[in-house]
Amino acid sequence: MFGNLYYDGQWKESASKKTMDVTNPATGEKVGTVFAAERQDAAAAVDAAARAFKTWSRLSAADRSAPLYNAYRLLTERADHVARILTMEQGKPLAEARGEVMQAADFLRWYSEEAKRIYGEIIPASSVNKRAHVIRQPIGVVAAITPWNFPASMITRKIAPALAAGCTVVIKPAEATPLTAAALFEIFHESDFPPGVVNLVYGDGPSIGAEFLENRLVKKIAFTGSTKVGKHLIAGSADQVKKVSLELGGHAPFIVFEDADLDQAVEACLISKYRNAGQTCICANRIYVQDTILETFSEKLASRVRSLKLGNGLEQGVEIGPLINEAAYRKVQEHVDDALAKGGKLLAGGKLSQAEGMTGYFYEPTLIGDASPDMKICSEETFGPVAPILTFKTENEAVEQANDSVYGLAAYVFTRDLGRTYRVAEALEYGIVGINDPLPGAAQVPFGGWKESGIGREGGHYGLEPFLEIKYISIGLNDR
Ligand code: NAP
Repeated sequence: MFGNLYYDGQWKESASKKTMDVTNPATGEKVGTVFAAERQDAAAAVDAAARAFKTWSRLSAADRSAPLYNAYRLLTERADHVARILTMEQGKPLAEARGEVMQAADFLRWYSEEAKRIYGEIIPASSVNKRAHVIRQPIGVVAAITPWNFPASMITRKIAPALAAGCTVVIKPAEATPLTAAALFEIFHESDFPPGVVNLVYGDGPSIGAEFLENRLVKKIAFTGSTKVGKHLIAGSADQVKKVSLELGGHAPFIVFEDADLDQAVEACLISKYRNAGQTCICANRIYVQDTILETFSEKLASRVRSLKLGNGLEQGVEIGPLINEAAYRKVQEHVDDALAKGGKLLAGGKLSQAEGMTGYFYEPTLIGDASPDMKICSEETFGPVAPILTFKTENEAVEQANDSVYGLAAYVFTRDLGRTYRVAEALEYGIVGINDPLPGAAQVPFGGWKESGIGREGGHYGLEPFLEIKYISIGLNDR
């Protein structure tokens, strides 16, 4: 496969003609090449977006909705094709890739509908000869930067609400996964968006990011990725007081109380921790189990973890794919070694693994018992298929331990007690709480984090807010 940049409604080469190769993390083989943009390419794409903003922002909501809906329809028709590309460059099993593509399509559909519901307000004025109106208007050109772990849905979760709000967008996907972005843009190209409304540049994060931060035509940075890069973007946006919304890292606690349905909690833990080989911002990172059920739960979970099938995501029946690259699996091994050195007990997995006949970056699904808070794995994002089990005695203790993190993205609780459900959900310092639910995400609900996990929300009607400015219009009447 070959990927061109896309701006002003056309496929383009980069000015320098430089390219970058894309590899399949399951095999190490090259699966494609894309043009590598430099700052001048990003600037040209921003120019195109700024020109298009003048007309796109003034279209009726119905006219903005129509191409978004076209894109939704085309993406669902081509879901298998896009999912295959996604698995080839990212590694997740095909069924998961298809699920992600359908979720990506859902954002397009939901915001094609929500584009029609951007309402204003009339506020009772302080005097009888005044009227106070509030309207919401698109912020301008949006520069969006996305990660490799969800290469389809992270793009539409930004593009769809931005376009629905009347903004135009330049997107820079992760270098590891540009081919999924190219496949999405084939679809956008056919969806009747006017030229310049959606634009794509691949390339090196720091240099394209610098262009986005310094270019005055960019009014908003929408970023999903690590907390480290998010902090850099906050600092870099200060000079122009550029608006930023940030979906950053997480370190989710997964709390299992003694009154939970244990089999349900075990299956939920597999989904939450091991999908996408643990490379998910909301995946369980610390499993807290009440002391009275610790042994039973740990045994049940370990036996299920040992049964997970590792391999090339394109093959039938594979449940865990490879990690994205060598650095990722070295980090996972470092976290496991550190945990074992600090008294952790290996209940399942624990090593780098070569799935038969393959040379990819595979790591065995791993479970560590007797974990303690001083282990790296209990505070840093591992981003791999490894989970530590910790224990607690009381509800308060569970909440205190769960909240002891700089992150505040997602938390999970397993209980059948209604009072406890509310008490614990309300006490957790997290943006998303799944009660007996390992997969809380959906197009219509807010997604985002407290503390160092981010600023703002994506999804639902909340997801439109970061792309809208509020304008208060005070009207003095001259007829009294
Ligand atoms: P990352 O290293 O922060 O990279 C994310 C994106 O930022 C990539 O496109 C990257 O480009 C770009 N980038 C890197 N340095 C940059 C800079 N100085 N200025 C501007 N852009 C820059 O994160 P990742 O490793 O791809 O993704 C994993 C992280 O994302 C995890 O922390 C995960 O928790 C988080 N995440 C959060 C959510 C959420 O919704 N909260 C969802 C998914 C993932 P290159 O590819 O060129 O490096």
